[in-house]
Amino acid sequence: MSETSTSATNRRSAASQPDHARLNFDLDVDVCVVGGGLAGLTVALEAARLGAGVAVLEGRQIGWNASGHHLGTVLPGYGLPVGEVIERIGLQDTREVWSLSRQGMEFIRSIATEENMPGISLSEGALEVSNVDAGDGLVRRLQMLNEDFGTDAEAWQVDRVRGELKTDRYFQGIHYPKAFQIDGRSYVHGLASLALRSGARIFEDTPVVGIDSSGIRKRIVTPSARLRATHIVLAGNVHLGAPLKRLSDTLLPVWRYAGLTEPLGGRLAASIAFRGSVIDSEGIDHFRIVDGDRLLWASPETTWAGQPRRFAGAVARRIRTVFPELGRIAIAETFGGAIGQTVHGMPQVGQLRKGLWVASGFGRQGLNTSAMAGQLIARAMLWGDDRWKLFSPFELVWAGGVTGRVAGYFVGLWSRGSSAAAGALARHRERVLVQDRLREVRLAEANRQAAIRPQPRRPPPAGAPRGNPPQGRPRPIRPPSPLPTSEPRVPADRGEGEGI
Ligand SMILES: Cc1cc2nc3c(=O)[nH]c(=O)nc-3n(C[C@H](O)[C@H](O)[C@H](O)COP(=O)(O)OP(=O)(O)OC[C@H]3O[C@@H](n4cnc5c(N)ncnc54)[C@H](O)[C@@H]3O)c2cc1C
Repeated sequence: MSETSTSATNRRSAASQPDHARLNFDLDVDVCVVGGGLAGLTVALEAARLGAGVAVLEGRQIGWNASGHHLGTVLPGYGLPVGEVIERIGLQDTREVWSLSRQGMEFIRSIATEENMPGISLSEGALEVSNVDAGDGLVRRLQMLNEDFGTDAEAWQVDRVRGELKTDRYFQGIHYPKAFQIDGRSYVHGLASLALRSGARIFEDTPVVGIDSSGIRKRIVTPSARLRATHIVLAGNVHLGAPLKRLSDTLLPVWRYAGLTEPLGGRLAASIAFRGSVIDSEGIDHFRIVDGDRLLWASPETTWAGQPRRFAGAVARRIRTVFPELGRIAIAETFGGAIGQTVHGMPQVGQLRKGLWVASGFGRQGLNTSAMAGQLIARAMLWGDDRWKLFSPFELVWAGGVTGRVAGYFVGLWSRGSSAAAGALARHRERVLVQDRLREVRLAEANRQAAIRPQPRRPPPAGAPRGNPPQGRPRPIRPPSPLPTSEPRVPADRGEGEGI
């Protein structure tokens, strides 16, 4: 069992990635990007396209962490529920921040399609499903997404969701027809190739061990070379370390793991008809079909670095819990990566001091948001575009160090546990409701039969007054109304696509 690739397509394309040699000579550039993940490479591509001399320094290899090991789902919005963003920055600024997140999506779609990246396998549509019977909240949220945020989204009732996903775990859903998915590894390497073609230079195996950002020309130190640059962009996510330890300390690292099943044949289509990504509203499960009949599924999380292969069993059990009819599941590959969670849930995008920029903290929804941050920062550095200031209210907050990780682990367990309990309760209520209705139907049928069948004459009990038996029909119990199509309800304060 391999634990590096995200799909069979990836496995084939991974072999042909170009080599980016270690930097072992001194260099002068306009922009030095620390980190060769999605965020760093997008900044590099955009800055190079705007004419800057750019160097990307990657401590290991391009996309070795989360950027090369994700599920490739591209949604609008952020990890923070939209209601909370409005509370922090007001409706007007939230609209702007939202529209930036959609621009991040469009950026990915345009370069993935126009540049015809090899192996990108773009497919359309994503579905966010509620783990509980959610009702009116969904309608309110949809109105907000459609009217206030101009986002294409439609409500799916329970029947429709269950027509596509054969499980009683999910209730209503929000369908995003313009969301899409791509092959994660192909995308990050495609970005690197484009950045190179646009003139950026990329050096792997080149960790940045120190920076001096005080002067106009800033200094960057690596084990084998020194650089000078007008701008430094810190895009190292949770592994940034030495260059600015205080910045790393503002992120809670969360390792998320995923598995790719062996081909499941026809039984997969019998359980899952939906071809886009599925994300549950609690952010627990996230899956999609790849290569026709295999399932790519992300779920387990830890706040320490684990071996992805050790989570193969957990992924298989989770799939069977949600789709018991799939039967035995064999996991062919596992993978995982560390994501950086900020305390407030929004990404870190901005300028720490003149010429020192940060692009990190993208959490579980890092594709559209890192693309957005890359564009925003490149334009800020080279055109003076100051829209990055929209993110200033989400300042850097210490994530609590080791204590924060331990707390984060228990909070994660607790919220998954309480979400599982809420889901179990919702399913229990649904079963009770169905049983009640069946009982009513049986009772109504019995009454109907009793009403039309001629009543047998019984001899009156001894001592009873003699005479004609009572006339008239027994009053039938009114048959139950048909099952109401319950109004979908997803917690009103959740933002679009925040379930990843
Ligand atoms: C299993 C899984 C599934 C996911 N699925 C999705 C999904 O479907 N959709 C979605 O939107 N998001 C998803 N995500 C989240 C997304 O992958 C991340 O948010 C995103 O990749 C973060 O990108 P990044 O560039 O900030 O960080 P990283 O990928 O961590 O890249 C940072 C890079 O910086 C380098 N670096 C750090 N410090 C230094 C230094 N001092 N010197 C040199 N280099 C340094 C690191 O080596 C690393 O390569 C998923 C994540 C996981 C783990």
